[in-house]
Amino acid sequence: MVVGVLALQGSFNEHIAALKRLGVKGVEVRKPEQLLTVSSLIIPGGESTTMAKLAELHNLFPALRDFVQMGKPVWGTCAGLIFLANKATGQKTGGQELVGGLDCTVHRNFFGSQIQSFETELPVPQIVAKEGGPPSFRAVFIRAPAILDVGPDVEVLAAIPLSAIESINSNPAIQKEEESEKKVIVAVKQGNLLATAFHPELTADTRWHSYFLKMVPEIADGTSAIVPTSTTY
Ligand code: GLN
Repeated sequence: MVVGVLALQGSFNEHIAALKRLGVKGVEVRKPEQLLTVSSLIIPGGESTTMAKLAELHNLFPALRDFVQMGKPVWGTCAGLIFLANKATGQKTGGQELVGGLDCTVHRNFFGSQIQSFETELPVPQIVAKEGGPPSFRAVFIRAPAILDVGPDVEVLAAIPLSAIESINSNPAIQKEEESEKKVIVAVKQGNLLATAFHPELTADTRWHSYFLKMVPEIADGTSAIVPTSTTY
């Protein structure tokens, strides 16, 4: 089984390495025709405006939209989440093209700039229900987006109380906008689409990759199996 990883910019190598740890081959996708050779796709984190410019240059947007609309499993992490959102707000958003399909609004730099990047223990009950392991996931947020609102078909998989993040509490701009007890959505699923505001490919815990692979029909129906013993926490 082959999983495509959009390889224009960002952490595509790390996703391919995480897939390899699960016994699954990840292939780099840079051209529209390569999407015909993969059954699912990961859109990595990186810098979404740069990634969008490169996607435009390679004429990838129509093929990416078709891929999403055909119901093929697609997982966006961080900048990949921004790509999948129907709407993006936040600094420097102006005119940026999105793939869309995920019924939500994303704030591109909700958690602040590079220096406000952080790690936190994120409760992940749905992941634990499917994958087992510890009750939380060590989530790495780098210049991270957040999901501001979701449509009725979107399932929230993880949310984080703003009060849990020190860097946010010291960021007056965000504090003014948000009550400190409010939770922000950082992982969602809508049918064939999965999106996380953080970077599971940068940790040794492969549960999100394993969860995504179970959304791939060949794995769900047992035609192609991943090696369960290689799952790490
Ligand atoms: N906020 C970034 C953007 O707008 C995404 C950051 C990331 O992917 N780590 O592209």
